[in-house]
Amino acid sequence: MDNLTVAVLGTGIMGEPIARNLLRAGIGVRAWNRTRAKAEPLAADGAIVCDEPAEAAAGADVVVTMLHDGDSVEEVMAGVLPAMEEGAVWAQMSTVGAEAADRFAEMARKREVLFLDCPVLGTRKPAEDGALVVLASGPRDERVEKIFDVIGSRTQWVGDGTEASRLKLVVNGWVLTLTAGVGEAIALAEVFGLDPRFFLEAIEGGLLDVPYARIKSDAVLKRELTPSFKAVTAAKDAALVASAGRAAGATPRIAEAVCDQLHRTVELGHGDEDMAAVYFAARQA
Ligand code: NAP
Repeated sequence: MDNLTVAVLGTGIMGEPIARNLLRAGIGVRAWNRTRAKAEPLAADGAIVCDEPAEAAAGADVVVTMLHDGDSVEEVMAGVLPAMEEGAVWAQMSTVGAEAADRFAEMARKREVLFLDCPVLGTRKPAEDGALVVLASGPRDERVEKIFDVIGSRTQWVGDGTEASRLKLVVNGWVLTLTAGVGEAIALAEVFGLDPRFFLEAIEGGLLDVPYARIKSDAVLKRELTPSFKAVTAAKDAALVASAGRAAGATPRIAEAVCDQLHRTVELGHGDEDMAAVYFAARQA
């Protein structure tokens, strides 16, 4: 498996550090991003920056997609699949939901391309540290497993189809609920005329205390909202959780309410801030 080459399509918050860690591990990277300027810094680490996604995929053993959503992945891969090398693998890491993951598995099957459904857990910092948790389903392939080992601290294999995208929705439903809950707790404390830090003091050291509540409360209270996970991306994910849950026969009213709050956050102008900005949706009448 010498001289592994990976095409990284999408070098945003997640794709850029993933590509950089692959380069640091001695893996060849051909990078493409719609806005080329965001991929260019990777050239200093040895990446070949390409103008077109199909150009990045040509000559790559593995094509990683780390794009915004199902529509952007579909649009890009429609042009890329025909350009992929024989025997190459598509590792789909973006959060696209259940229905799109199934569609991509079928697109790949028709082109006789190996498809790995492998969304990731962890945000900007774990991506930079090579400490993501990879949720993986599909055929095991040693080239892709090598990539997982570089970008992640562990890989959880959950099936041979697109189960990983479903598990990703389960986990994101939980994370988004927690984030919206923290924002609402702070907003409530404020409108009740309380110091919002009383909330953190009240839960300190008990079973209700979670590190995540502190991290997201701090981000809100200090107005340090540089995105690790943009509110607009979180709104997209909440909609995926809600629609996939409904389609499968559940009643995910919490995901639906969180989705409304996140859409409101975007409307209020906080879409490109961290999802902790969901606080603003709860704070206003
Ligand atoms: P991001 O920084 O907003 O990057 C999104 C990427 O998608 C950019 O490369 C963007 O290109 C590209 N893109 C958007 N629309 C496109 C289109 N129509 N055609 C081609 N490219 C398009 O987001 P991110 O945080 O890295 O997230 C990437 C994926 O990882 C998402 O599916 C997200 O849900 C998932 N994820 C994120 C996190 C997190 O904490 N941030 C964690 C786990 C999973 P431009 O630069 O040109 O806009």
